[in-house]
Formats: sequence, C-alpha cells, structure tokens
Amino acid sequence: MLKGKEQLTELFAAVRKQLVSSADREEWGTSIEPLLKTPDDGSDSALWSALEELLKKYVSFGEEKFLWEAVARLARLSDWYLSRPVTIISGVGKKRAEKLANLGIETVADLLHHYPRAYTDRRYVDQIADVDEVKYYTLYGEVLSVQVVRGRNPRLEVRLGDDSGSIRVNFWNQTYLADKFTRGTKLFCFGRADFYRGRPQLNNPEFEIIGSPEKLDESRSIMPVYPLSEGLSQRRLRSWLARALDFGRPLLTDSLPADLRRENELPPRPWSIRNLHEPETVVALEQARKRLIFEEFFYFQLIFALHNWNVETISKGREYTAAEQRDRFVDSLPFELTGDQHQVLAEIESDLCDSAPVHRLLQGDVGTGKTVVALAAILRVIDSGYQAALMAPTEVLAEQHYRTASELLNGIKCSYERLTGSLSAPKKETVRHRLNSGELDLVIGTHALIQEGVDFSRLGFIVVDEQHRFGVDQRRRLREKGPSVDMLIMSATPIPRSLAMTAYGDLEVSTLEEFPLQRRRVQTRVLDRTAPNRRQVYEHVRQLAREDCRSFFIFPAIEKNESTELTAAEDAFQRAQSSELFAGLGLGLLHGRLDSEEKKSVMDRFRRGEIQVLFSTTVVEVGVDVPEASCLVVFEAERFGLAQLHQLRGRIGRAGQQAYCYLFLNQAVAPGSRERLQVLERTDDGFQVARRDLQFRGIGSPTGTEQSGWGEFEIGNVWEDREIMSAARSAAEKLVASTNGLDAPRLALLNQKLHSTYADQLQFARIG
Ligand code: ADP
Ligand code: MG
Repeated sequence: MLKGKEQLTELFAAVRKQLVSSADREEWGTSIEPLLKTPDDGSDSALWSALEELLKKYVSFGEEKFLWEAVARLARLSDWYLSRPVTIISGVGKKRAEKLANLGIETVADLLHHYPRAYTDRRYVDQIADVDEVKYYTLYGEVLSVQVVRGRNPRLEVRLGDDSGSIRVNFWNQTYLADKFTRGTKLFCFGRADFYRGRPQLNNPEFEIIGSPEKLDESRSIMPVYPLSEGLSQRRLRSWLARALDFGRPLLTDSLPADLRRENELPPRPWSIRNLHEPETVVALEQARKRLIFEEFFYFQLIFALHNWNVETISKGREYTAAEQRDRFVDSLPFELTGDQHQVLAEIESDLCDSAPVHRLLQGDVGTGKTVVALAAILRVIDSGYQAALMAPTEVLAEQHYRTASELLNGIKCSYERLTGSLSAPKKETVRHRLNSGELDLVIGTHALIQEGVDFSRLGFIVVDEQHRFGVDQRRRLREKGPSVDMLIMSATPIPRSLAMTAYGDLEVSTLEEFPLQRRRVQTRVLDRTAPNRRQVYEHVRQLAREDCRSFFIFPAIEKNESTELTAAEDAFQRAQSSELFAGLGLGLLHGRLDSEEKKSVMDRFRRGEIQVLFSTTVVEVGVDVPEASCLVVFEAERFGLAQLHQLRGRIGRAGQQAYCYLFLNQAVAPGSRERLQVLERTDDGFQVARRDLQFRGIGSPTGTEQSGWGEFEIGNVWEDREIMSAARSAAEKLVASTNGLDAPRLALLNQKLHSTYADQLQFARIG
C-alpha cells in the first residue's frame, strides 16, 4: 500500500519541479485553479496542500478512495497540460504552429499523438534494385536529377540513385520542395512503391534530407518518420517532440489499472509514448507499440463488454415455449437440414429461451442456407404469439426473401406481408396497420422501412440480413426499437473469429460452413483486357445463353465521368447493343439510380430469361438469386476487394451447375493486383478470401463500421494485431465482470478517460 504513496509523492515532486522551472509559471499558476476546483485560494500551493491532505488521509485511514481522488486530481492537471497549445513548447512560434495545424496538430496532446508513420532503421535500408512489389520501402540515396513537371497536378520529379540503381520519386503538388533538393542531396525516403507502365516509383514518400554525414545522429539507429507538411522537417518535429516529452512526461498518467498492466505485461504509458517517438531499442519500440495498441483496443472492447454486461442483467420477459409451427416447418422442408444448420438453429433457440435478449451473428457464405435457419427461428417466436421482422439491405433482396418465405411457409400457420418501397402508399398503410393491430406475425422489408415509423403490437424478434452493410451504429439504432428485442444478424461475408470480435464484439457468433447442395466450384480466371481475351469470353457467354444460362457483366461505375476513368455500365451497355458480338442476345442494364419499380422489372426480365446478359454495377452483389445465372464477368476487377468479388461470385451457379467467373484487369496494373486477384482462382472458401483480403489491404475494418468511426484505430491494425485484440477483449470482459460494471475507486482514471474520450461510443453500451 505504501508503494502507491511513494509513487505518488514522486510524481508530485516531478510535477512541482516542472511547474517551478516553467517559463510559463504565471499561466500555470492561474489556470490550474478553476480546473482543479480546490476549495481554497487559487495559488498552486493550495493545490499541493489539497493533494497532500488527501494523501495524509489515505495513509492514516488506509482508505483507498483518498488515494484515487488524489490521482484523479493529478489527471485533471495532466489534461490541462495536454490541452495547451503547441506554442508553449519553446521553438514553436506562431508561424510554426500554423504549419503544425495543417497536420491537425494544435495541442501538446495532438503532438504527442502524432505517431510516426514508420521508422527508418539505418541498418535495414532497401536497395533500389530490389523494389519490385507494391509495398513500403526505405531507400537511401543521392539525388541525380530534379525536375518540376507542370500540369493539372504539378509535381516535383526526383531521380534517386544508390549503388544498385535508380528510381523515380514524385512529390505531387509539392513543387515548393524544388529548392530543397539539388543534385547530390542525400535523401532518406520512405514510402509505398507503385508501378507506372511497369516501372516502380515512389509517390509522396516521407523523406529526410541527411545533408552531411556528420549530421547523422550515429548513436541512434532507429529514427521515427513522421507525416509532414510544407515548412516542416523530420528533424524539427523530432526536436519539438523531445521537448514536449521532457516537459510533459511526468504529467502523463496511466489510466490502465496496475494489475491489468501486470497481467498483460504492459509497460507504463509515459514510457511507451516516449519509446514510440524515441525508441531506445527495437525491443523497446515493440513493447511500446504493443502497449499503446492494447490500450486503444482495450477501450474499444470495454464498450462492448459493458454493453454485454448490461444486456445480461436485463430480462426480456418473454418465453418461447411452444414449437408447433416450427416443428411442422422443419418437417415439411423438401430437404434435410445439414448438420451445421441443426447446430446453429439449436444455438439460436437456446439463446431465445434464455431470459436475456438474443444478440447473435449468423455468418456463412452465400448458399450455406442461412435463410432457412432464420425462418425456423422466426417460427419459434411466432409460435408463442410474438411478432418478427425480417429485414434486408435492398429492395431486391427483400423481394427475394418474400418469395422464399412464400415457397417455404406453404401450409404453415403464419401470416406475413412485405413492406417495401414499391408498395403503394395505401398498401403500406394497411401493412402498418395490421402490424400494429397484431394481425400480422411476420413482416419482410428493407431496413429503412422497418426502422421508420412502424409500431408492432408485440415485437419479439428482428432478423437482419445485412450481407456486409450493417455497422455498429445501425445496430444501436435498431436496439432503440426495443432494448429487449431478440436480434439475429446474418452476414454473408464470413470473417475469422478474431475479427468478428472487433466488428461484432456485442454479438455471439454462429457459423455455417457446410454447403447443403453439392456446389461445383466456380471456375475463375484473371485475364488481361485484350481484344482476343474479350472475344473469347463473349463467345463463351453466347454459348451459355444458348444453354439458357445467364451472365452478369459488372462495372465499377454507372456512367462515364470526366474525372474518373472508370469503365461504366451504361456506356458498355450502349456499345454492346450495336455490337455484332452481342447480336441476338437479350441485354439489360441495372444500377442503383434506377427507381425500385424499374429495378424490379429488370430483375424480373433477367429471371425470366428475356435478359440474358445483365450489365450492372455492384447492386447485384447483395444477394440476388437467379438460379440460371452461370457466368460473371467483372471489368476493372482490380478496383474491387477480394471479399466483394467473392460475394459477387456467390451470385452464380446457385442451382449447382458449373459456373464461370472472368476477372478482367485493366492494362498496366501493378503486379501485386494480379497476384491479389489470383487468390480467387485458387480458393472459393469465404474465410480464406477474407483473410487474404485483409492481408493485401492491410488496414480497414471489413464490415462497414468505418462510417461511424468505429473500428478505426490510431496505431493498431485489426488484422496484424489480432492477438492483441483477443487479449484486450479478455481483459475488458474480466474487468467489467469483476468490478460490477467498472464500479471501483481504483478505476477512477479509467472511468474518466472512458467518459471523456468515448462519450459517443458509450451510448452504445447503455441499454434502454
Ligand atoms: P443463404 O441465405 O445462406 O445464401 P439460402 O438460405 O438462400 O442460403 O439457401 C440457398 C439455397 O439452398 C436455397 O435454395 C435453399 O432452399 C437451399 N437449401 C437450404 N438448406 C438446404 C438443405 N439443408 N438442403 C438442401 N437445400 C438447402
Ligand atoms: Mg440469403
């Protein structure tokens, strides 16, 4: 116990010393007072005596709360320091502060959180001749030539050479750098190599001019490389950071409780921030990164953990004991459920019978039979007299679910209706009315329609078929419909468990892996978009059409736009109509700008076979189900994510026939793009595809949570740092469970940080 006291006194001493030696002492002394709300006068001695008073109480009564109160006061002091403008750092004047502001750095905290983009380890510099992939390289060489290239996007073109060769380095819109570089300038560059006409180049790399060898700080081999903007240099930024750290480090507090830090082997936060900016060794840098990543993941998981803890404590007050129609439904199916389907259905039903509301994710590749499972679970709820809603992300998909329900619910006692945008206003009104009166058991519609103004008389269960477009925020809004409603989310973008934890930390996860139908693999080929290749593919499409099979042509854009060079569905459609290559084939056009009536009519004609080749944007990706669709041709495939292409590929061969997927690459794509897409030639396992996708794209959350700012991290990467994510999750769950929802005096700092930094997200954790 005394140890805590000693640490604290030490901390006080350090802070006091800083205050006394601070040039801005006046400012410190006068501004601290209101922030700390000390009971006495405004001098800083009052602050210290107040803190010391608390400490004495702590020592004599042994009451922990006094200690933590003191710590919390110190934290407020630290917040105050961190929110000072950067101009309190000596060497940063008004002008330089403006330049820092261009990088979004206004306060000391912003500066300390301006994390290095990378590190140059001078023992590991790449040879220019070895640049042969789309990835990050560290290069060191001499400027061979400098040239300003004017145009719409002016650039400075630098040729950089080392012993092994030379490379072009472009600084787009940074021609002001021209007077920095001259022939012979020694330059460190760090950036991603891209390929232009098959040759590697660096675009806007981070750089540092190492004027003469004696200026090299030989004692340190690992140097941070920061994102820069005009008028700033790596050297300057480093020196300002050094000052900010010297001055402020004693004030940085650690909000993670000591036992948690110990258990997870995390170094203290001040040490970590310092080592991120000024790594002592590679090992220290690694530990520092790990610690800071853990912290951001931990707070993220803490919100989910709090949410889950809250959910567990509420009782939904419904019991689903009957199972008559559900049993009848399963018996009447024209097929046997697969083992996976049985298993998952049991998981969902066991949840349903629990007193806490169900929050479960059902993930499985397209065609694994999720809808059938969902319908069975829905009937279980209806059996006990409650209502259910089945929601889809698009109109087309909602219609499809409605058709599926019509087929499968034949002879089952369940009244259902659809509620989609294409219904007339009076019809919508009728459906709403019947839901409200309790006459309808099940409504099938789009997210929007069900979220707006529908009042159920006794809603028990919501099933959301989200595909991959349903983020955390939307889930939160859904829950506002009724905090205790049971909820099942279906996703056709299966993601590995550790990632599901990130994107869906508030949900239990069930997975369908088995395919009920003997699906033949979709034969996939990645092709250059050459005339002979195209001719061959179109010939194949024609042949398939003769066998009553249909094809999708997918384009990255709807119409040609001057600012983008994307191949557009509309143009291709126009051209195809007058091309002999497509003569005699029924062609159609589908994209998001058609109204729902038009979309529906196009889809109906495609389904009936009047349209044999459908020119489309990715609107078809979300679950369009046409059994005769056998061929998918994607243009500029390099613009799509692997998971997205996989999803599109799930649209063909659905009746078990052989299907074909052609992925056309633009000419002159980087070798990496081809390699990435070739993953699809080798595998049709959705999990593997998702994994590879993340490897190639590196950063990013796989589920559309980014729109809400969730799942975006300052330094952590959800894929590369997935082990830290798991550890952070366990730690968060354990802490919430052992402290009755974070109710403990020693968590004062943690709670303070949680409420000040994550106020918005905390909304999510609250129930009701
Ligand atoms: P998902 O929603 O996962 O893409 P669906 O539920 O739409 O899959 O099922 C795909 C197709 O497989 C549907 O035509 C469905 O009727 C059929 N199906 C589902 N389960 C089975 C099964 N156990 N045996 C045979 N066919 C099944
Ligand atoms: Mg489906």
